[in-house]
Amino acid sequence: MPKVILKKSSYNYEELKPQIFELLESIDSGHIRKNSRVLIKPNLLAPAPPESAILTHPLIIRASAEYVLAKGAVPQISDSPGSGAFDKVIMESGIKKALNGLNIDCTEFRRSVPFDIGPPFNKIEIAEDAVNADVIINLPKLKTHTQMLLTLGVKNLFGCIVGMRKPEWHFRTGVDSEMFAGLLVRIYKALRPSLTIIDGILAMEGAGPGRSGIPKHLGLLMGGSDAVALDITVCELLGIDPDRLFTNKAARAAGFVSEEIEKEGDFPVIKDFRLPETVPVIFGPRKLHGFMRRHLVQRPVPDDKICRLCGECLRYCHAKAITVTKNGISFDYDRCIRCYCCIEFCPYGALSARETFYGGIIRKILWRRHH
Ligand code: SF4
Ligand code: SF4
Repeated sequence: MPKVILKKSSYNYEELKPQIFELLESIDSGHIRKNSRVLIKPNLLAPAPPESAILTHPLIIRASAEYVLAKGAVPQISDSPGSGAFDKVIMESGIKKALNGLNIDCTEFRRSVPFDIGPPFNKIEIAEDAVNADVIINLPKLKTHTQMLLTLGVKNLFGCIVGMRKPEWHFRTGVDSEMFAGLLVRIYKALRPSLTIIDGILAMEGAGPGRSGIPKHLGLLMGGSDAVALDITVCELLGIDPDRLFTNKAARAAGFVSEEIEKEGDFPVIKDFRLPETVPVIFGPRKLHGFMRRHLVQRPVPDDKICRLCGECLRYCHAKAITVTKNGISFDYDRCIRCYCCIEFCPYGALSARETFYGGIIRKILWRRHH
């Protein structure tokens, strides 16, 4: 039976470091040995300071690295940021400063190798360092996610897809969140991180996972060796049916969910956590999905007062649905597949998903039927 441990915590390093050591010690069960190559995989989405709650906090990364060093193993901290240069991410996030004095390799994933994650995706390109690590310590942030509802332990491993291959996968799986969740679960299972600690001390609510989300203090650290069990437990804490999280549902369908989870610690129910408005209104025959997507599903919309016309969103739009003009950016909603990569990667939080007129009407009708 998988075990989930919860601790009340803060970013005070004197309190945090022994808690991380304790968590890792109790879930490690001998994975980390002398000279093991240990990959520490935080969420390093984009350059952002700790108070924005976009990235795993630098002190959680430091404490995990210190634990690995104390075991005589060899830590490597890596990710493939969704946007921005890796060096900029570790500078702006305070990670470089936090690692001061430690002899640690902190480097971007660069090379990918083909890796079989099983059907229906089979061989896909995954970061070589992740494939070759003896142990993976997975350090996700507890955040909302406009397309996937939340990004937690399972989704964090998507960072092991290197560079522009990430938006490519978003494009290939389109707005089919269930198919994308299936991909995430397969990547998670193939990489099998040994230990996962979720940073829920300063979490994110609202329109995450980027700058449009709102930091929310929860003061929670959660650890376990089974990230699916952790993700299910987070949903329970937030008062959400666990199967509303696409990755949980996909994990259940794939037979990766244990019926019982052993829980240790104080598990509060958080009542006022704001979720993003997600769930594209796609239903009915597949033939109609294109039409429905265009007219009913929330669209990315810019706030011209915030947009700086940097053009970053264009890089992530594999559908080529965005153009930048002198007067602002514009979207071709017929081409747009509603993957929301542009919202996720806009460095200024200038984009949000907005309900269409007809989508709003249908949502209200459905809501009335269910209440
Ligand atoms: S929406 Fe964001 S990413 Fe796109 S041009 Fe404006 S500021 Fe840049
Ligand atoms: S415009 Fe945004 S949401 Fe639409 S396809 Fe491009 S990146 Fe995805």
